[in-house]
Amino acid sequence: MGAISTDLDLVLRSIRVALAGNPNSGKTTVFNNLTGSRQHTGNWPGKTVERKDGLFRHRGFEVQVTDLPGIYSLTAYSTDEMIARDFLVNERPDVVVVVVDASNLERNLYLTVLLLELGVNVVLDLNMMDDVRRRGLQIDSEKIARALGVRVVETIANRGFGMDELRDAIVEAAVRPRTSEPLRVNYGEEVEGAIRALESEITQRGILVEKYPSRWLAIKLLEGDPAVLNEVGSLPGGAELASKAARLAEELESRLGEDVETYMIERRYGFIKGLVQASVKGLSVERRLSISDRIDEVVTNRVLGVPIFLGLMWATFNLVFKIGNPMADAIDAFFGWLAERSASLVAAVGAPEWAASLIADGVIGGIGSVLVFLPNIMLLFLAISILEDSGYMARAAFVMDRVMRAIGLHGKSFISMILGFGCNVPAIMATRSIESEKDRIITILVNPLMSCSARLPIYVLFASAFFEGNQGNVIFSLYLLGIVLAIVVARLLKATIFKGTPSPFIMELPPYRLPTIRSVLIHMWSRSSLFLRKAGTIIFGTVLLVWALGSLPPGVEFASQQSLAGRLGSAIAPLLKPAGFGSWQAAVALFFGILAKEVVVGTLGTLYGVEEEGLIEAVRRDFTPLSAYAFMVMSLVYIPCIASIAVIRRETNSWKWTAFAVLYSLFLGWALAVLVYQVGRLLGFG
Ligand code: GDP
Ligand code: MG
Repeated sequence: MGAISTDLDLVLRSIRVALAGNPNSGKTTVFNNLTGSRQHTGNWPGKTVERKDGLFRHRGFEVQVTDLPGIYSLTAYSTDEMIARDFLVNERPDVVVVVVDASNLERNLYLTVLLLELGVNVVLDLNMMDDVRRRGLQIDSEKIARALGVRVVETIANRGFGMDELRDAIVEAAVRPRTSEPLRVNYGEEVEGAIRALESEITQRGILVEKYPSRWLAIKLLEGDPAVLNEVGSLPGGAELASKAARLAEELESRLGEDVETYMIERRYGFIKGLVQASVKGLSVERRLSISDRIDEVVTNRVLGVPIFLGLMWATFNLVFKIGNPMADAIDAFFGWLAERSASLVAAVGAPEWAASLIADGVIGGIGSVLVFLPNIMLLFLAISILEDSGYMARAAFVMDRVMRAIGLHGKSFISMILGFGCNVPAIMATRSIESEKDRIITILVNPLMSCSARLPIYVLFASAFFEGNQGNVIFSLYLLGIVLAIVVARLLKATIFKGTPSPFIMELPPYRLPTIRSVLIHMWSRSSLFLRKAGTIIFGTVLLVWALGSLPPGVEFASQQSLAGRLGSAIAPLLKPAGFGSWQAAVALFFGILAKEVVVGTLGTLYGVEEEGLIEAVRRDFTPLSAYAFMVMSLVYIPCIASIAVIRRETNSWKWTAFAVLYSLFLGWALAVLVYQVGRLLGFG
């Protein structure tokens, strides 16, 4: 018994620490301060690089310290860096103190991030605090500590300041690490996809899972790290893994238009830049010089940031409209002509009347009226791709982080909201990166309020019909309404059902870059092709269903109120009358729009027909500008589409929250539409 407890004592009472840091950060000074005279020097095995070891006692612990070579990163290309890496991975010190020159944080934190990705237990030593003060910088070290999940100590090593605090932090970190999870830098959608693919392969094959965090191994394989490739290559299944990594890296390179390793380095610096921007006040001379920093001073400015974001959005929708509409008009005219021609052609060959109607009303009227908006949708995706690839979207999220924090969420929620401009389904899946379960559910529940691209055809149609000259502004107002509603609803949920404080998080600021035409086009196309595929499947199917309901029972005049569609619409319409759009066609359109929001336009195209008069003229008969606006508001809010509902169910894993998402939006959409219409009438519009 006695022997065992002394053994345990020994294990607990002896701590192994490594000192890491860039050259000249003050490592050796810290080492000497900590260990005093109890140190000895030698060489690293097989290398001519000096190794220093030392010892100190603190609070009953015996602490062995090793001074690692001064390094900037952990690549396999430099001897010093390999020594450090091997030591960390093979010797697994209990704690690694990273000594950084705090007056130059942006450069110095890079190594810290690499070590945290490797999953080592870090104590961050912000050294040279005298220089920091001399330069008039203020560092919020508590914020850094929270964001990185490490203990942070401020020191002035050459004067011995802060050494006791450092000793305390070392012992505390050894006994109780602040986190056991390696840091996750966000490498952007595409690289993250590749990392996930490799990670699952790594865990499946069980390759080096004891030795490295699987995410780290995946990252190194993508970067093509020679030492790791070597190590992996000799293991069973390793060659396949390595070749898969090479294939993925090649794919990424052609997509990103640059070397994967370079790209990932930039993303890490982006992460650090966001951290520094949020935790250091007062800029050093050095930082003022870079163009990227000067742009950021304006774009992420406290006062200007939000107006700039809104201004860019406004410009985007005006562009989407001004350039897109002439093209949309041309396609529209073409489909109108096609519908007429094919109907008469089908009649000429003696086919029954319903066949002519199927082609003219169902296929061309329904699908055609949605496809008309392909140019607008592609332009929207083009604009989103440019804003994302240039690095601006990350700034928008950074700026909105402040707004989101004010309501108790953080910028990560806004990132998923921005993604919602494209499609709510992947946006909802992107909430997986939010650690707090409560915050995640809130973010999921409000995401459908963001105007996805499927709403765009509705907006463009009605804005063209009723708001000549102001189409861009009207569309912008709806996008803005979506954001505002999402924020308000999130605020309410946060204040009532989901109380709690947000977890600390850093908004990355990746470097600005001129987007390559190639990658922008690839991004635009991958989103647009999704839209086309949807048009060929769910939208097509639903529109045919609407056509059938419009034609049945047999003998009824197509798309008349006596048809099944007419009866269905007439049953719902009274509910919508207070919102100003009480026509049965509008009711049917909204009903089937649940399947996919594009179907709203497709249904109107089928029911109104497009051959004699355009769809625009048809809706002008049944709507006024005011009721049209109410209808757009309703279309924005009233219910998540079926794919969103399915993904909400999957991601919340709860029928309760799924039902909540459906019911609250249905009620909110209806109530807002009624409000718009009734208040508008009181004010004398329409
Ligand atoms: P290493 O390369 O990381 O081992 O750095 P050294 O310990 O050799 O320190 C480099 C230089 O920085 C030496 O001249 C130290 O005296 C000086 N130095 C270390 N810590 C501090 C500090 O906190 N403030 C200032 N001003 N200088 C320091
Ligand atoms: Mg040294």
